[in-house]
Amino acid sequence: MPLDDLFDEARRQLTICNSCRYCAGYCPVWPALELRTTLERRDITHLANLCHDCGDCLSACMYAPPHEFAVDPPSVLTEVREETYRHYVWPHRTPGRRATGVAFAVVCLLLALMSWQFTGRLFVVADTPGDPYEILPHTPMLIAVGAPSLWAAGVFGWAALRYWRDIHGSLTDLLRVRVWLTTFTQAVQLRHMTGCEVPGRRGFHMVLVYGFGLCAVSTTAAAYLQNTLGEHPPYPYLSVPVISGSVGGIAMIVGGCGLWWRRGGSGFLWALVVLAASGMLTLLLRETVAFGPILLLHVAAVVVAFGIVPYTKFVHSIFRMLSIHHDNLES
Ligand code: SF4
Ligand code: SF4
Repeated sequence: MPLDDLFDEARRQLTICNSCRYCAGYCPVWPALELRTTLERRDITHLANLCHDCGDCLSACMYAPPHEFAVDPPSVLTEVREETYRHYVWPHRTPGRRATGVAFAVVCLLLALMSWQFTGRLFVVADTPGDPYEILPHTPMLIAVGAPSLWAAGVFGWAALRYWRDIHGSLTDLLRVRVWLTTFTQAVQLRHMTGCEVPGRRGFHMVLVYGFGLCAVSTTAAAYLQNTLGEHPPYPYLSVPVISGSVGGIAMIVGGCGLWWRRGGSGFLWALVVLAASGMLTLLLRETVAFGPILLLHVAAVVVAFGIVPYTKFVHSIFRMLSIHHDNLES
């Protein structure tokens, strides 16, 4: 649907909802809608990113299709939300599956060449089992992972800034720490997802998010041990990086597969599962000859994941968080 038509359709449906107000208690979309007598594009964009697509309002709606009003907020808000992702993230073009697959193969090849050039130990059992720097030295590893990470952070930062200026305006409100505390609490509890017609979706989503958080803890702890305390990997099985990474990896696999089971899969979901599974394999196989190839596959998965993450569904976490913050400031 052309963009203008999409916003007109969303405006039409939400105007009916604003007269009806039957769904007022279902989620934060409805109180936020009631605050508005006119609906500009920025209002519709904000409301779309507050919606968690739970479907409760549609199930309850007496004006849903086949009624002539054809009110279907989850569908129209989802379309607007997806348009938001394309609009605010630069470049607007989303890499397809084939391009992602080719990028993964090219990165694997480049990493293998670098390993052969620098260490020549890709298919050799490491002298110190599990030492990644016997496969690829620290500096090339840092550049390989650091460059796409900086790219993703830059794209996310710019998109978040543009989004916030459109839906809210004042940048100083981004510094309201107490409101942010409320926003983060609501986000980590997925509080706005409580109404959900798909059983288990919220639980699996939480497991996936917490697993991702634990993997971030693992990476941060490893960086601290290495750069501050001078302790280089491999780390013992009973250490913060290994325990948090293992629990986080298992949680990501369980959460990702669970969401696929309850909601159907997406490329992004599978990428997260592959990332977690390859990370777990590097731990399980770190004393075998398979450690080198598995490590390079995992690093390649990390490189490609960071490179394309602003164009995946992951971006919803940024926009939704900003919309929840805007909603908290309003209310
Ligand atoms: S979704 Fe239907 S029932 Fe709910 S507020 Fe809108 S028109 Fe009313
Ligand atoms: S689908 Fe759920 S989250 Fe979205 S507007 Fe309806 S009740 Fe709210």
